[in-house]
Amino acid sequence: MARRKIIAGNWKMNMTPTEAVELINTLKPLVATDDADVVFCVPAIDIIPAMEAAKGSNIAIGAENMYFEEKGAYTGEISPAMLTDAGVKYVVLGHSERREYFAETSETVNKKMLKAFEHGITPIMCCGETLTQREQGVTMDFIRQQVKVGFLGVTAEQAATAVIAYEPIWAIGTGKTATTEQAQEVCKGIRECIAEIYDAATAEKIRIQYGGSVNAATAPELFAQPDIDGGLVGGAALKPDFGKIVNWK
Ligand code: PEP
Repeated sequence: MARRKIIAGNWKMNMTPTEAVELINTLKPLVATDDADVVFCVPAIDIIPAMEAAKGSNIAIGAENMYFEEKGAYTGEISPAMLTDAGVKYVVLGHSERREYFAETSETVNKKMLKAFEHGITPIMCCGETLTQREQGVTMDFIRQQVKVGFLGVTAEQAATAVIAYEPIWAIGTGKTATTEQAQEVCKGIRECIAEIYDAATAEKIRIQYGGSVNAATAPELFAQPDIDGGLVGGAALKPDFGKIVNWK
């Protein structure tokens, strides 16, 4: 069975609640499709107004981060139950910006993965190499490590429902998209890694996105690759172009 594409926007630290509602109202008709899952991952404060604005549309609202404890003295964090109570179905975990600026590690990502599954939230787990790692020829070793640690303790049934976003760090927000061949090669490698950890059936089911300066021009070729099941989109998700990316066919 063909995997259903999943195209997600990562708004990062953009859009006030008022702007979020305006953007959703603008994008709603443009991202309408029956062919893919469409997710807007928005800042925590935008989740509730975004959920309200997206009502009746095909847009699912996701979060950009989540903490791995249930509740308590973790000032500034958002719990899984806070997300599910607000209707959130997806959460981006381990984005490279969180790893770089907020000391996120594969170990903390793993704890968040386990918590997300426990609460029925689908994780979009990010992985990706730096330019130096690519130049040193260790891209796949590095990503395999991120995937293996990220999925520690995750069952095959859970893994089959997960989303992995392959985002080469050198391609995020730089306008430099990985070539279609580079993106496909790594996404295929990630699928093989999942097959090694679990089995071929789980690897066939898990959805793997490409992310890194995806735009309306590059999306069609990228998304047509056999191991690329959609995209995680930053900058272009804040523009009407996102409609073209979602309707890439
Ligand atoms: C991202 O934020 O995950 C991303 C891929 O950003 P951009 O599309 O702007 O490179």
